[in-house]
Amino acid sequence: MAPIRPPAPASGLPPWQPLGDHLALDFLNTTATLNGGQVEWLGSGEALVSWLVTAGVIAKPPRFDRVILDEVARDAITLREWFRGVLERTKARGPGAVAAPDLKRLNAWLERGASFQRVEQTASGLRTVSVQPLDDAQALLAPLAAAIADLLCHGDLDLVRRCESEQCTMWFYDRTKSHRRRWCSQALCGNRAKAAAFRQRHRAH
Ligand SMILES: [Zn+2]
Repeated sequence: MAPIRPPAPASGLPPWQPLGDHLALDFLNTTATLNGGQVEWLGSGEALVSWLVTAGVIAKPPRFDRVILDEVARDAITLREWFRGVLERTKARGPGAVAAPDLKRLNAWLERGASFQRVEQTASGLRTVSVQPLDDAQALLAPLAAAIADLLCHGDLDLVRRCESEQCTMWFYDRTKSHRRRWCSQALCGNRAKAAAFRQRHRAH
Protein backbone atom coordinates (compact mmCIF):
# COMPACT_ATOMS: atom_id res chain seq x y z
CA MET A 1 0.00 0.00 0.00
CA ALA A 2 1.22 3.50 -0.80
CA PRO A 3 2.30 5.55 2.24
CA ILE A 4 -0.02 8.36 3.36
CA ARG A 5 1.38 11.61 2.04
CA PRO A 6 0.86 14.98 3.68
CA PRO A 7 -0.93 17.58 1.49
CA ALA A 8 1.59 18.62 -1.13
CA PRO A 9 2.48 22.30 -1.64
CA ALA A 10 0.88 23.95 -4.69
CA SER A 11 4.01 23.56 -6.78
CA GLY A 12 4.34 19.84 -6.05
CA LEU A 13 0.71 18.93 -6.79
CA PRO A 14 -0.09 16.26 -9.34
CA PRO A 15 -1.76 17.83 -12.39
CA TRP A 16 -5.49 18.41 -11.95
CA GLN A 17 -7.67 16.71 -14.56
CA PRO A 18 -11.11 17.80 -15.77
CA LEU A 19 -13.02 14.55 -15.24
CA GLY A 20 -16.34 15.92 -14.01
CA ASP A 21 -17.85 16.87 -17.38
CA HIS A 22 -19.53 19.84 -15.69
CA LEU A 23 -17.80 22.83 -14.13
CA ALA A 24 -19.66 22.42 -10.82
CA LEU A 25 -18.37 18.83 -10.56
CA ASP A 26 -14.89 19.76 -11.71
CA PHE A 27 -14.99 22.25 -8.86
CA LEU A 28 -15.95 19.46 -6.41
CA ASN A 29 -13.05 17.44 -7.77
CA THR A 30 -10.49 20.05 -6.75
CA THR A 31 -9.82 17.85 -3.76
CA ALA A 32 -9.29 14.13 -4.19
CA THR A 33 -7.79 11.05 -2.64
CA LEU A 34 -4.83 10.05 -4.75
CA ASN A 35 -2.37 7.27 -3.90
CA GLY A 36 -3.68 7.15 -0.35
CA GLY A 37 -3.19 10.88 0.31
CA GLN A 38 -5.61 13.81 0.21
CA VAL A 39 -4.76 16.33 -2.51
CA GLU A 40 -6.07 19.91 -2.29
CA TRP A 41 -5.80 21.95 -5.50
CA LEU A 42 -7.21 25.12 -3.92
CA GLY A 43 -4.83 25.31 -0.98
CA SER A 44 -3.79 28.94 -1.59
CA GLY A 45 -4.82 31.98 -3.63
CA GLU A 46 -2.11 31.16 -6.13
CA ALA A 47 -3.35 27.58 -6.44
CA LEU A 48 -6.96 28.77 -6.84
CA VAL A 49 -6.02 31.17 -9.67
CA SER A 50 -3.97 28.48 -11.36
CA TRP A 51 -6.93 26.09 -11.22
CA LEU A 52 -9.39 28.76 -12.47
CA VAL A 53 -7.17 29.28 -15.52
CA THR A 54 -6.68 25.52 -16.10
CA ALA A 55 -10.43 24.91 -15.84
CA GLY A 56 -11.10 27.76 -18.31
CA VAL A 57 -13.10 29.84 -15.80
CA ILE A 58 -10.88 32.88 -16.30
CA ALA A 59 -8.56 33.67 -19.20
CA LYS A 60 -5.64 35.08 -17.27
CA PRO A 61 -4.60 35.54 -13.64
CA PRO A 62 -6.18 38.66 -12.09
CA ARG A 63 -4.12 41.21 -10.16
CA PHE A 64 -5.02 40.90 -6.55
CA ASP A 65 -3.00 40.97 -3.41
CA ARG A 66 -1.79 37.56 -2.25
CA VAL A 67 -3.48 37.93 1.13
CA ILE A 68 -6.81 38.72 -0.55
CA LEU A 69 -6.51 35.76 -2.93
CA ASP A 70 -5.65 33.42 -0.05
CA GLU A 71 -8.89 34.52 1.59
CA VAL A 72 -10.85 33.86 -1.63
CA ALA A 73 -9.27 30.39 -1.80
CA ARG A 74 -10.53 29.66 1.72
CA ASP A 75 -14.00 30.88 0.68
CA ALA A 76 -13.79 28.69 -2.45
CA ILE A 77 -13.24 25.64 -0.25
CA THR A 78 -16.20 26.69 1.93
CA LEU A 79 -18.38 27.07 -1.20
CA ARG A 80 -17.19 23.72 -2.53
CA GLU A 81 -17.83 21.77 0.66
CA TRP A 82 -21.22 23.47 1.15
CA PHE A 83 -22.12 22.40 -2.40
CA ARG A 84 -20.92 18.83 -1.76
CA GLY A 85 -23.41 18.57 1.11
CA VAL A 86 -26.23 20.19 -0.88
CA LEU A 87 -25.62 17.88 -3.85
CA GLU A 88 -25.62 14.75 -1.69
CA ARG A 89 -28.83 15.84 0.04
CA THR A 90 -30.53 16.84 -3.23
CA LYS A 91 -29.63 13.55 -4.88
CA ALA A 92 -31.04 11.64 -1.93
CA ARG A 93 -34.16 13.70 -1.27
CA GLY A 94 -34.86 15.87 -4.33
CA PRO A 95 -34.85 19.66 -4.80
CA GLY A 96 -36.88 20.13 -1.58
CA ALA A 97 -33.64 19.31 0.27
CA VAL A 98 -32.23 22.69 -0.77
CA ALA A 99 -33.24 24.78 2.22
CA ALA A 100 -33.90 28.54 2.34
CA PRO A 101 -30.50 29.29 3.97
CA ASP A 102 -28.83 27.29 1.16
CA LEU A 103 -30.55 29.43 -1.49
CA LYS A 104 -29.66 32.60 0.37
CA ARG A 105 -26.04 31.54 0.42
CA LEU A 106 -25.94 30.54 -3.26
CA ASN A 107 -27.74 33.71 -4.35
CA ALA A 108 -25.29 35.86 -2.40
CA TRP A 109 -22.42 34.23 -4.30
CA LEU A 110 -24.26 34.71 -7.60
CA GLU A 111 -24.77 38.40 -6.87
CA ARG A 112 -21.04 38.95 -6.71
CA GLY A 113 -20.90 38.11 -10.41
CA ALA A 114 -23.28 40.88 -11.48
CA SER A 115 -22.30 42.24 -14.88
CA PHE A 116 -23.33 45.35 -16.78
CA GLN A 117 -23.70 46.29 -20.42
CA ARG A 118 -21.47 48.74 -22.19
CA VAL A 119 -21.92 50.26 -25.64
CA GLU A 120 -18.92 50.37 -27.96
CA GLN A 121 -18.38 51.88 -31.38
CA THR A 122 -17.04 49.38 -33.89
CA ALA A 123 -16.29 49.53 -37.62
CA SER A 124 -19.66 47.95 -38.35
CA GLY A 125 -21.63 50.11 -35.91
CA LEU A 126 -22.57 50.14 -32.26
CA ARG A 127 -22.60 47.00 -30.19
CA THR A 128 -23.12 46.07 -26.58
CA VAL A 129 -20.64 44.05 -24.61
CA SER A 130 -21.17 42.44 -21.24
CA VAL A 131 -18.60 43.54 -18.67
CA GLN A 132 -17.94 41.89 -15.36
CA PRO A 133 -16.31 44.26 -12.88
CA LEU A 134 -13.43 42.33 -11.40
CA ASP A 135 -12.48 44.82 -8.71
CA ASP A 136 -13.95 42.44 -6.16
CA ALA A 137 -11.79 39.34 -5.76
CA GLN A 138 -14.80 37.41 -4.45
CA ALA A 139 -16.32 37.80 -7.94
CA LEU A 140 -13.84 35.09 -8.99
CA LEU A 141 -16.17 32.60 -7.30
CA ALA A 142 -19.34 33.81 -9.06
CA PRO A 143 -18.85 31.64 -12.20
CA LEU A 144 -18.52 28.63 -9.89
CA ALA A 145 -21.74 29.59 -8.11
CA ALA A 146 -23.36 29.98 -11.56
CA ALA A 147 -22.20 26.48 -12.52
CA ILE A 148 -23.65 25.11 -9.27
CA ALA A 149 -26.95 26.92 -9.96
CA ASP A 150 -26.99 25.53 -13.50
CA LEU A 151 -26.45 21.98 -12.29
CA LEU A 152 -29.10 22.19 -9.55
CA CYS A 153 -31.70 23.86 -11.81
CA HIS A 154 -31.07 22.28 -15.21
CA GLY A 155 -28.98 19.15 -14.62
CA ASP A 156 -30.30 15.60 -14.51
CA LEU A 157 -29.10 14.59 -11.06
CA ASP A 158 -29.59 10.89 -11.85
CA LEU A 159 -26.66 11.32 -14.21
CA VAL A 160 -24.59 13.07 -11.56
CA ARG A 161 -22.76 10.33 -9.73
CA ARG A 162 -19.72 9.52 -7.68
CA CYS A 163 -16.99 7.31 -9.02
CA GLU A 164 -17.71 3.71 -7.97
CA SER A 165 -14.23 3.16 -6.58
CA GLU A 166 -14.48 3.10 -2.79
CA GLN A 167 -11.29 5.06 -2.31
CA CYS A 168 -12.27 7.71 -4.85
CA THR A 169 -14.25 10.87 -4.07
CA MET A 170 -14.58 12.20 -7.64
CA TRP A 171 -17.94 13.21 -9.09
CA PHE A 172 -18.92 13.24 -12.75
CA TYR A 173 -21.84 14.01 -15.07
CA ASP A 174 -22.52 10.88 -17.09
CA ARG A 175 -22.85 12.14 -20.66
CA THR A 176 -22.29 8.72 -22.27
CA LYS A 177 -25.04 7.48 -24.58
CA SER A 178 -25.63 4.34 -22.52
CA HIS A 179 -25.52 6.25 -19.20
CA ARG A 180 -23.35 3.52 -17.76
CA ARG A 181 -20.29 5.50 -16.85
CA ARG A 182 -18.89 4.08 -13.61
CA TRP A 183 -15.50 5.69 -13.11
CA CYS A 184 -14.05 9.17 -12.84
CA SER A 185 -11.50 7.90 -15.29
CA GLN A 186 -10.80 4.53 -16.85
CA ALA A 187 -7.07 5.11 -16.38
CA LEU A 188 -7.34 6.07 -12.70
CA CYS A 189 -10.10 3.90 -11.25
CA GLY A 190 -11.50 1.70 -14.03
CA ASN A 191 -8.28 -0.20 -14.60
CA ARG A 192 -7.57 -0.46 -10.89
CA ALA A 193 -11.02 -2.01 -10.31
CA LYS A 194 -10.46 -4.40 -13.21
CA ALA A 195 -7.09 -5.47 -11.77
CA ALA A 196 -8.63 -5.95 -8.31
CA ALA A 197 -11.45 -8.07 -9.76
CA PHE A 198 -8.87 -10.14 -11.61
CA ARG A 199 -6.85 -10.71 -8.42
CA GLN A 200 -10.05 -11.65 -6.59
CA ARG A 201 -10.95 -14.23 -9.24
CA HIS A 202 -7.40 -15.54 -9.25
CA ARG A 203 -7.45 -16.01 -5.48
CA ALA A 204 -10.77 -17.86 -5.64
CA HIS A 205 -9.23 -20.65 -7.74
ZN1 LIG B 1 -12.40 7.41 -9.43
